[in-house]
Amino acid sequence: MSGRTPLIAGNWKMYKTGPEAVDTAQRLVELLADTADVDIMIAPVFTALDPVSQVVADSRVGLGAQNLYWEKEGAYTGEISADMLVAAGCQYVIIGHSERRQYFGETDETVNKKIRTAIDAGLIPVFCVGETEAEREAGQTFSVLDKQVQIGLGGYFAKDLGTLVIAYEPVWAIGTGKTATREQAQEAHQYIRSLIEQNIDKTLAQSMRILYGGSVKPDNVADLMQMPDIDGALVGGASLDAESFSKIVKFKG
Ligand code: PEP
Repeated sequence: MSGRTPLIAGNWKMYKTGPEAVDTAQRLVELLADTADVDIMIAPVFTALDPVSQVVADSRVGLGAQNLYWEKEGAYTGEISADMLVAAGCQYVIIGHSERRQYFGETDETVNKKIRTAIDAGLIPVFCVGETEAEREAGQTFSVLDKQVQIGLGGYFAKDLGTLVIAYEPVWAIGTGKTATREQAQEAHQYIRSLIEQNIDKTLAQSMRILYGGSVKPDNVADLMQMPDIDGALVGGASLDAESFSKIVKFKG
């Protein structure tokens, strides 16, 4: 972790109605009231953002959205703008999650525009990258990360990216129960940090938080977090239950 404040983020995907999300958020606020030295974020569905923001206000728990669109407003049925997320109480937004790339046509180019939109609105982007199983087996992990980072962050300077968080999420580990070993994760994180250093800026590379995502659970988080370039976790399934997510947040014991 090298002095970077860890971030533990929960991606609630398309689970929980507004009232269900409020209940889980209320329980999390209680369970996490005494945590220190760790940033926490939950990302419920859009319809739950506003009520959940009222529950987590003045607590240790931050609020994020799972996606945004780059236009400010207009005839874009089904989309949501950065200003709308800010007005609903968000501080973070997840961008380029592999499920959005796989099912909703998200590309490195659209990710690039969304990151710009998030930054301009004052949201912290959590930019997701990661290879599929076939790409890993073909020895293409580094070249896939290279392309995702080069295009996703193309045209950006260090001054733009001070808050950016990257989440390394090998697609084969998401929702499968197959976690990357801590060595596999560390290797990818170190590579991503080196890409930021070579392409953008050394100081930024050192301060940037790189989260690991892919079947993180209460019983494997501490092991992953021992690695020098792993600065937190993006958690899907295990973030849906307040007790389980709070154990992950309290990974130091
Ligand atoms: C995710 O949705 O980003 C994720 C990592 O899911 P899971 O923890 O369920 O693998």
